[in-house]
Amino acid sequence: MADTTLMDKLVSLAKRRGFVFQSSEIYGGLGSVWDYGPLGVELKKNVKDRWWRAMVHARDDIEGLDAAILMHPRVWEASGHVAGFTDPLVDCKTCKARFRADKLEDARCPQKPSKKPGEHTACELTEPRLFNLMFKTFMGPVEEQAATIFLRPETAQGIYVNYQNVLNASRQKVPFGIAQIGKAFRNEITPGNFIFRTREFEQMEMQFFVEPGTDMEWFEFWKAERLEWHKSLGLAPDRLNYHQHAGTELAHYARAAFDIEFDFGGSLGFQEIEGIHNRGDFDLSRHQEYSGKRLEYVDQAANKRYIPFVVETAAGPNRTLLALLVNAYREEKVEGEDEGRVVLGFHPSLAPIKAGVFPLVKKDGMPEFADKLAKDLRKSFPVFYDESAAIGRRYRRQDEVGTPFCLTVDGQTLQDGTVTLRDRDTLKQERVAADRVGEIIKERIAL
Ligand code: ATP
Repeated sequence: MADTTLMDKLVSLAKRRGFVFQSSEIYGGLGSVWDYGPLGVELKKNVKDRWWRAMVHARDDIEGLDAAILMHPRVWEASGHVAGFTDPLVDCKTCKARFRADKLEDARCPQKPSKKPGEHTACELTEPRLFNLMFKTFMGPVEEQAATIFLRPETAQGIYVNYQNVLNASRQKVPFGIAQIGKAFRNEITPGNFIFRTREFEQMEMQFFVEPGTDMEWFEFWKAERLEWHKSLGLAPDRLNYHQHAGTELAHYARAAFDIEFDFGGSLGFQEIEGIHNRGDFDLSRHQEYSGKRLEYVDQAANKRYIPFVVETAAGPNRTLLALLVNAYREEKVEGEDEGRVVLGFHPSLAPIKAGVFPLVKKDGMPEFADKLAKDLRKSFPVFYDESAAIGRRYRRQDEVGTPFCLTVDGQTLQDGTVTLRDRDTLKQERVAADRVGEIIKERIAL
């Protein structure tokens, strides 16, 4: 399978089977905005649940938060986003296309794609101008400067401004963290590659507050921990690596930064799926300065006061979902069958549907038995009941959406109460008691 076409195959499968649809498609779509269909929403939810469990529930030193998308406009002055969250842009006066000045090398002239912008005789590029990536809107009925607010471009600031609220309410002590999952918006200039870079997306961010001087130790801890998490989702270890930010790549607030990258194959190759940053005391100091509120931590036992340093882990469920699709997709021959199959080999805990339930034929009480079994299993996990088409077709439909198990009710079921349990990956079938199969599947999908 050529890697260059993998993304096209995924876009088509994602639409056909209800993972991802283009936003407002019946109106021609909205640039780089995507909707998640019945299976996509389950897959994304499973990714977020896995993150929440690892970062919040499994630890006693991290608290959850759900801050609002709209925030006081001063937040974005303090954070540096009003002044600094910009990309240098050039416009082509001829074709009206817009390019990032620092990415011209990777861009193509829309009129002559074999050339870069500026190389075609008709190109007329402007000087670079700075363009702020934040979406602006107005709060209240008056569209005037005073009422301008922004859609948040990251979830982190909601955590910093609540740092003291959470500290007081939870009675945590430094070192401790605050985690949040939520929407973020960036008017990206070079969005694309399906759901890789979009203008509306979600983030899963955790800010860990530590005593200055212990920050690099915690940075190393979280760097290792987060890589392990991505592996635990089933992403192939040899497709994951670290990329260190150095020199001009390092953001203005960062003392150290590493990306965790995944190899998306084809022309995309290794790309960031999560950033781990040592932000020092930049954020809390700035909010202390701009809000006039003291944000120092008082360590009574050691009789010390300081502004904590922050180690941030910033991931995105949308990009993780794309990595999971790329990682899981395989086309293979099935022994004894002419037609091959497409499989999404998701880790069972992430699969949107956990089991397909089929009556072998639509008679002799099999549909009734299978329907009752499906209803029972739905109390524990998502199940798809299917009685249409030949059994092989039904298996293949479930393989294509990553369902790890299929249960078939056949003639023997009606005699001894057993069903066949088929494994998506090994294709092995075993006979198990219908009243035990729910427990067996739960055990196998457990983490
Ligand atoms: P990039 O350089 O790839 O645009 P970034 O360095 O700006 O990303 P961060 O600000 O560190 O990204 O955001 C943390 C995570 O949020 C990223 O690793 C990614 O998973 C996700 N993310 C950021 N921007 C987008 C986007 N436009 N679309 C989808 N996910 C995004």
